Amino acid sequence: MNFHRLYATANKCYVVGNKLTPKGIMIHSTGANNPYLKRYVGPDDGLLGTNSYKNYWNNYQPGGQSICCHAFIGKLKDGTIATYQILPWNYQAWHCGRSGNQTHLSFEICEDGLNDKNYLDAVYHEAIDLCIYLCKEFGLSEKDILDHHEGNSIGIASNHGDVAHWWSLFGYSMDGLRDEVKKGLSKTNENHVALYVVRKDWSDISSQIGAYAILDNAKRACLSGYKVFDENGTEIYEYEDGVYPELYRVRKSWDDYRSQIGAFINLDHAKAVCVTGYKVYDENGKMVYSPEKKWKASDARHALRQSAGLETDTGEYDLNGDGKTTAAEARQILKNTL
Ligand SMILES: [Zn+2]
Repeated sequence: MNFHRLYATANKCYVVGNKLTPKGIMIHSTGANNPYLKRYVGPDDGLLGTNSYKNYWNNYQPGGQSICCHAFIGKLKDGTIATYQILPWNYQAWHCGRSGNQTHLSFEICEDGLNDKNYLDAVYHEAIDLCIYLCKEFGLSEKDILDHHEGNSIGIASNHGDVAHWWSLFGYSMDGLRDEVKKGLSKTNENHVALYVVRKDWSDISSQIGAYAILDNAKRACLSGYKVFDENGTEIYEYEDGVYPELYRVRKSWDDYRSQIGAFINLDHAKAVCVTGYKVYDENGKMVYSPEKKWKASDARHALRQSAGLETDTGEYDLNGDGKTTAAEARQILKNTL
């Protein structure tokens, strides 16, 4: 999947921001002959190309209507197929005119003249990838995916023919897509690593501050007001004051927890990886360090290894001063130190 994100922050849907807990995915196609994303997604980020009419959906009411969806699939200006997320997944989108708006994630596929099998084949496969990604992200299966047309037949969407009216012209179908998504999901399950997630509440997906393969790391990341859940939503740990050592967190800002590049018991280690643009925060969100000079990632790695006693000024690894520490050993020790 060629995934990009450009939120339609001016759209009424984004402004209103009703919360969504996704129960399924509804696929649409635009019903207009224009395969280029720039018609719907903007402003130009350098890849989309310019839309001089500025009539993309990053307007309060595109075409005078209260409409939006979560993502678009179509062409970049160079003809490459891409996916653009334009609304956060946990916001309701007004895409199908009925109750499906309150339950379903939605994406629109840009239609062309409905005469190019190669284009349809490309966007069909991009849609499969997006569906697999969303199913994994929100614990959905292929059975939770339908198109606008199928949504109408079960009474949760208005009367439209997309995408069947287009796909059927070239032998593609929603059943075919669901089969492919099912295959994709079972493939990923083969190498599946169970993750422990840290959230305020299992149902509050947007509160998630991390997902960890190692339970102890999940517990360590669990802040006041948060809990650790296993993959089935069973609560296995609740934050307890003073159980785990205080951690210094390196983030762009305290609120931007997704920007976190590390959490360290040792303040020096946190400082060492704190590159320009980031700051170190204590457990209570108080900023304790902000780098003064330009501090690049390569400097940070070097300083981190030095502060852990693993690398000399010349870049050689020599933990015990006997010249016998190998780089692999050093990395292992460094991992255990942090
Ligand atoms: Zn539709």
